[in-house]
Amino acid sequence: MSLSLLCSNTPEGRRRKDIRYLVYDLGKFDEPTQKLLRIAADCLSNSSSTSTTSDNEDDGGCEDTGSRGKLFQHKSPVPKMGRQTYKMWKASLELSMGLFSRANLLDKPKTLHFWPLENFPDAVTTNFRVPGFDLIEFLVHFLQTYFPGLDVRLENLHDINTDDSNLVSRYHKKTKKKQFLVSDLYSQLHSLTGTLKRDFILGWTWTDLYPTEELNFVLGEASFVHRCAVLSFGRYEPLSYKVNEDLETVHGIDGDVEEDEASSVRVDGDLLWKLLRVATHETSHLFGLNHCVFFECSMNESKSISQALSQPFFLCPICLRKLQRFLKFDVKERYKGLFKVCRTLQEFYPSPGMERTCQWLERCMTFLNTENGS
Ligand SMILES: [Zn+2]
Ligand SMILES: [Zn+2]
Repeated sequence: MSLSLLCSNTPEGRRRKDIRYLVYDLGKFDEPTQKLLRIAADCLSNSSSTSTTSDNEDDGGCEDTGSRGKLFQHKSPVPKMGRQTYKMWKASLELSMGLFSRANLLDKPKTLHFWPLENFPDAVTTNFRVPGFDLIEFLVHFLQTYFPGLDVRLENLHDINTDDSNLVSRYHKKTKKKQFLVSDLYSQLHSLTGTLKRDFILGWTWTDLYPTEELNFVLGEASFVHRCAVLSFGRYEPLSYKVNEDLETVHGIDGDVEEDEASSVRVDGDLLWKLLRVATHETSHLFGLNHCVFFECSMNESKSISQALSQPFFLCPICLRKLQRFLKFDVKERYKGLFKVCRTLQEFYPSPGMERTCQWLERCMTFLNTENGS
């Protein structure tokens, strides 16, 4: 081993230290995947815009990769608070094992139950244009592709309005529409659905959700401890949706809204983009991923709907490292599968967000297929 590898004061030594701190040992990955994950260190590199070290040339991170552009944009500076490195994530999972079972959470097969919790109007679920799917089946297919290694099961309707669950709800003072208290919902989901606690649940409601008495609504929320997440379609109704666009914050001010009808819901590319963004973000929380402060990343915290929707679909190298360890997928194969499903969706339901994602996936696959940056 050369002296430069041992010395952490050289740029190369510092970079290796940063890589280890952020994503730990990458030895088991093939070289292209290692190259992608090593980009993690760019977020701690103060001089990345002016210096070029020998092992980060053409690394797709902060260095200019020419026509391909940057794959990942790090926060500048990365805040000291809120960092969840790969090792921190793994330690928190190992700690949580005692809460659920003695079984090793990381090495057991994982099941996610996708559970429609209310009846959806036919206008929403039928006449879906992607061949071979209705809307709900497509969501499940997308989640399966985004989370390879996870067994995503579509469950039959479990209507939370017809049982005696006594879920906490309220009527929104402006929309006059019913809202479920989301934390009450996910704290009861396993018992409502009779699911094993070691499994994960992603519930989907038609009714709007609210997080606390003072706040207006949430599109979705997840609880790592309960292994449950809930998404709502409630805010995608055209008029509510318009109010959303006008709101400055997700939990923001009230807007005036008139009566609307479920039948007027129009499933388009923008709506699907939003739905998939929220579904993948909340599901990732179920696996212990915290909000990401390192890069522009699918796991960034969002304080407004417009902010949430401007964030990327893809995970940064640090969040990808966690998800890969949890589900043990092949990174390249995952991107290939995602590209295929995103392209298909873009063909039938175009949106600017999905177009950006397709272009990014293409660049990423080119990067992974380019050995040694050549
Ligand atoms: Zn979140
Ligand atoms: Zn991230």
